[in-house]
Amino acid sequence: MPFQQPPLPFAMNALQPFLSEEQLMYHYTKHHAAYFKNLNALVEGKPEANLPLREVVLQSAGGVFNNAAQAWNHSFYWDCMMPKAGGEPKGELAAAIQRDLGGFEAFRKSMSETAVKLFGSGWAWLAADQTGKLEIMPLGNADTPLKHGKEPVLTIDVWEHAYYVDYHNERGKYVDGFWKVANWAFAEKRFAAALA
Ligand code: MN
Repeated sequence: MPFQQPPLPFAMNALQPFLSEEQLMYHYTKHHAAYFKNLNALVEGKPEANLPLREVVLQSAGGVFNNAAQAWNHSFYWDCMMPKAGGEPKGELAAAIQRDLGGFEAFRKSMSETAVKLFGSGWAWLAADQTGKLEIMPLGNADTPLKHGKEPVLTIDVWEHAYYVDYHNERGKYVDGFWKVANWAFAEKRFAAALA
């Protein structure tokens, strides 16, 4: 199998009470795993099978793109969370949020609103262009800032499967809880990589 699902970067019960073990189990072992399985079946014997996953996302369309991007997006999403994390970013990322998005509280409010209002399935992204300018991007289905020439810095999955076990229809409560586990150390590294 050319593409392998990376391990979850934390234990299945480590994000409680934000996400239950059952919620994460379905999301990681059913939904995320299925995108890898589908992608591997679609690219079997094709040139894409020899590319890094990120390159497949950049170069593909249709079903290959949908599954490759969902495989990549979820691995990125897991890294955006960490037990006992949360708080605020530091350093260059904090300065860029101040400069481009009006400071941390304004950013958090705006990103939350974007995540809650996104119609249907998709992702709320914080992304940077090559100059480090930040923006909040609501993107539908499997779409990712990579496809728009931007570097992802942080994401919230707002497909219903991401929260329905724990929050049912209350997406807003799921989004509020996300901030208590937001992995700013990871986002700071992604922002630095966007500038490199
Ligand atoms: Mn998902």
